[in-house]
Amino acid sequence: MNVVVCVKQIPDPAAPPSLDPATNTLNRSGKLILDDSDAYGVEMALQLVDAAGGGEVTLVSMAPNGEVSGLRTALAMGAAKAILVSDDVLVGSDALGTAKVLAAAIRRAAPDLVLAATESTDGYTGTTPVQVAELLGFPSVTFAKKVEVSGSTVKVQRQTEAGFDEVESPLPAVVTVTAGVVEPRYPSFKGIMAAKSKPVETLTVADLGIDPSEVGATGARQAITSVTAAEARQSGEIVVDEGDAHERIIQFLEQLKVL
Ligand SMILES: Cc1cc2nc3c(=O)[nH]c(=O)nc-3n(C[C@H](O)[C@H](O)[C@H](O)COP(=O)(O)OP(=O)(O)OC[C@H]3O[C@@H](n4cnc5c(N)ncnc54)[C@H](O)[C@@H]3O)c2cc1C
Repeated sequence: MNVVVCVKQIPDPAAPPSLDPATNTLNRSGKLILDDSDAYGVEMALQLVDAAGGGEVTLVSMAPNGEVSGLRTALAMGAAKAILVSDDVLVGSDALGTAKVLAAAIRRAAPDLVLAATESTDGYTGTTPVQVAELLGFPSVTFAKKVEVSGSTVKVQRQTEAGFDEVESPLPAVVTVTAGVVEPRYPSFKGIMAAKSKPVETLTVADLGIDPSEVGATGARQAITSVTAAEARQSGEIVVDEGDAHERIIQFLEQLKVL
């Protein structure tokens, strides 16, 4: 079974983020790393291919400046190869533009199953995978906390507020996974060394046959018009117990309508 995993490479969340003042978009010019959210999809794909007894995991990513650091991490976990779409015309792409690029790259890999995270850590619109599914004409199942493949069907436990739904879909399909789906492995030293020579095919928008006016800033139907700093947290009120603290806490909770 061949599985494609969408892997987003993002600026390191541990470093302070900076915005491009002209476009209010995240500065992505430095080193990018594998989005933690996507490590779950990579692990799930590796386990599904193992369980099927054959096939391989292909990573698909769209990132600026030919960045491959995050892809190398996922290759070190065990993925076989990667497709990277990197092109200056993609600067300013919105989620739909990104989905068009990912869908075109995925089509080349002709997978049985496509996995992605429910949402990315930096953009977190949670819209890209379902747009990819629509563009490919595949069914999509979101919020998977358990994924099994049986013949030409994928069976998913889909997280809901109250518990989970059991959903079945024919393959090929796009499934988004939550952080609870599996525990991602750490790349071994052997895996890290092997990843250095695994194939990464780098493609441009022209290679994918996409009209450049449909992606990047020109094709975007979304623009960030302004950015405001989040309000600083106000300090809390300390209740000193003089025998009536429980009543004052109840009053406070009643004011907030949580009781
Ligand atoms: C105004 C605006 C400007 C932007 N400018 C740029 C830019 O200059 N350069 C640029 O590269 N991108 C740019 N983007 C695209 C952006 O970084 C996201 O890739 C895209 O909008 C997807 O949205 P998200 O991160 O909210 O994904 P979500 O829908 O939250 O992502 C869910 C999952 O989809 C998959 N996925 C999402 N994006 C990618 C990806 N790029 N590659 C592989 N898998 C992915 C991952 O599995 C991810 O966890 C811009 C977006 C906006 C809205």
